[in-house]
Amino acid sequence: MDPIRIAVVGVGKIARDQHLPAIAGNSAFSLAATVSPHDPGVEGVPHARSLEELIERGPAVDAVALCTPPQVRYDLAVQALRKGMHVFLEKPPGATLGEVGALSSRADKVGATLFAAWHSRFAAGVAPARAWLAERRIDSVSIVWREDVRVWHPGQAWIWEPGGLGVFDPGINALSIATHILPRQMFLQSATLEIPANRAAPIGADIQFRDTAGAPIHMDLDWRQTGPQSWDIIVETDAGTLKLSNGGAVLTLPSGVEHNEDLEYPGLYARFATLIRGGRSDVDVAPFRLVADAFLRGHRKIVEEFHD
Ligand code: NAP
Repeated sequence: MDPIRIAVVGVGKIARDQHLPAIAGNSAFSLAATVSPHDPGVEGVPHARSLEELIERGPAVDAVALCTPPQVRYDLAVQALRKGMHVFLEKPPGATLGEVGALSSRADKVGATLFAAWHSRFAAGVAPARAWLAERRIDSVSIVWREDVRVWHPGQAWIWEPGGLGVFDPGINALSIATHILPRQMFLQSATLEIPANRAAPIGADIQFRDTAGAPIHMDLDWRQTGPQSWDIIVETDAGTLKLSNGGAVLTLPSGVEHNEDLEYPGLYARFATLIRGGRSDVDVAPFRLVADAFLRGHRKIVEEFHD
């Protein structure tokens, strides 16, 4: 079977750190081109400054991976779907729920694959955590996602703009795990969003969710954490405590600790290939809906200005 010719669109941090190595490591794909307005791309691989330019001048591609900031993703996805290309959307899948819904309908109409990727769901501990929790009574959940924005998002102006999500940019990864491992649907009850006086997006958030059986789910998000960082989900159950740490990579059960190999992006590309070969899409907006609800229902508290 011929490899799927793919173009990586938006050559920034995540494209270089994860997408290019994952594509290089998966024989179902061949990197046909890169697209980025300023970044020069990869030696020996055709490069275009815009998706329009790639579509006009070639080379031909079967699929695109959109690794841009979310605010520009819809227009790029529409251009690609118009040409019948399969589309991989980095998380979050767009800037609004409505545009993701519109993309989903368009992909169905043209018979192309649309994949809303949630990389954290492919972290090593997530699948075994989901299996273990399926049989348990959930008593309470605590999500603690505290990191230093200056370390992880230096100079990323888009992340502070409307549609950039602020601290929910990492926080949505926690929600992508929680919505996947918890056996019941969760929904938002209340939230406080801390927004720096000079920015449009939150730097911290305190959120109370609950599941449909009434179990409380608390989320503590903070971008001002220096020193040790936390990406933890702790679930209290009738059979003891489950802890997922390091963003889902390490699973601790009452019986002990499981460490497995990190396969997030290789897992995403294996899934994308399976979806394309099977003529299917995968667009789960559950994590994105919870974030939208936090903006819809949250109390806004203005806090100290943030400067990079
Ligand atoms: P980034 O470093 O700012 O890279 C984004 C790139 O998109 C920029 O380098 C820019 O390229 C390019 N771009 C902007 N507008 C474009 C357009 N219209 N057409 C083509 N390219 C365009 O951001 P990032 O950290 O890689 O994040 C990108 C997305 O991946 C975000 O949604 C983020 O949530 C997600 N993500 C990031 C991480 C992470 O660890 N950073 C992890 C997982 C997921 P030029 O430099 O050429 O202008």
